[in-house]
Amino acid sequence: ATPTSIMVATGRAAQLGVLLRKGEALQLLKDAKVVAVDKTGTLTEGKPALTDLVLAPSFERAAVLSAVAAVESQSEHPIAQAIVQAAKAEGLQIPQLAGFESVTGFGVRAEVEGARVEVGADRMMAQLGAEVTVFAEDAARPGAEGKTPLYAAINGQLAAMIAVADPIKPTTQAAIDGLHAMGLKVAMITGDNRRTGEAIARQLGIDEVVAEVLPDGKVDAVKRLRAEHGALAYVGDGINDAPALAEADVGVAIGTGTDIAIESADVVLMGGDMRGVVTAIGLSRATMRNIH
Ligand code: ADP
Ligand code: MG
Repeated sequence: ATPTSIMVATGRAAQLGVLLRKGEALQLLKDAKVVAVDKTGTLTEGKPALTDLVLAPSFERAAVLSAVAAVESQSEHPIAQAIVQAAKAEGLQIPQLAGFESVTGFGVRAEVEGARVEVGADRMMAQLGAEVTVFAEDAARPGAEGKTPLYAAINGQLAAMIAVADPIKPTTQAAIDGLHAMGLKVAMITGDNRRTGEAIARQLGIDEVVAEVLPDGKVDAVKRLRAEHGALAYVGDGINDAPALAEADVGVAIGTGTDIAIESADVVLMGGDMRGVVTAIGLSRATMRNIH
C-alpha cells in the first residue's frame, strides 16, 4: 500500500467511527486469525441490573441489601452500581462503612455497622469457607441465562445469592457474524463465572470461552489463543484489559471504556460498537491487497 492509500483508509475508518491510533494497525489487521473479546462492557452494555436476591434462612432482605449496597458504594465495578441502584430503588438508607477493601477478580469487603460484610464471586466465598452450594439451584438458572451470580456473607456466614444481568449490546451479534463471515475465530476472555460466560457465548455463537480469568490471566489467555490460531486482535474496555490489549498483535479499545484501555490500544472504536472491528479488518484487507 502506498502512504496515500493508507492515509485514505485511515480517514475512511475515522468516518466510520474507527480511530487507527497506530499506523501498523492497518497493516497487521488483515492477518488476524482470531479476535479475542472481553465480555463485560465489550459484548455487553457494562450496565448490569440486579434481577434476583435469594436470602439464606434467618436473613432479612432490607438488612442484607443495605449492608451489601454500603460496601458496593465504594467500588467502581459495574456490578457495584447495579446493587447500589437496587437498594436506592427500594428506598433503603445506605449505612456508613469502614475498612473498605477490593480484591480484584474476587469481590469487595468492609465493616458495616459492626458486621463484616463480603460480596463477590463464589471463589471469594470459598476463601471464607462459606459454602455456596446451598444456593446451587438458585444460581443455576440465572447463570444459564447469562446472568452473573454473586454471594454476600455477613460475619463469615452466607447471607444471600444475588444475580445481576448485563444486556448484550444491540450491535454485538452483527459484529460476531461479520467476523465469522470473514473467516475469523472469535473467543471470549472473561473474569465472570464459567456458566455465565458460556451462556452468553452460546447465544452469540462465539467459538471459544476462557472464563473465571483473574486480571493477570488475560495475557496468558491471549498468548495461548495466538499460539493456537495465529495473529490475534483483542477487544476490551476495562483497566483489567490493558495488559491484554498491549500483548495482542492489535489491541482494540472500546471508546466508551477506561482511559487506560484506550491508551494501551492501537485502534479505538468510538461509539463502543464492535462492528468497527469488522470495518477495520475489511479496510485493512482492501488497502493492503494493493501492495502485493
Ligand atoms: P469482569 O470485568 O470480566 O467481570 P472482574 O475481574 O472485574 O472481571 O470481576 C470478576 C468477578 O469478580 C465478577 O464477575 C464478580 O463475580 C466479582 N467481583 C468483582 N468486583 C466485584 C464487586 N464490586 N462486587 C461483587 N463482585 C465483584
Ligand atoms: Mg470489560
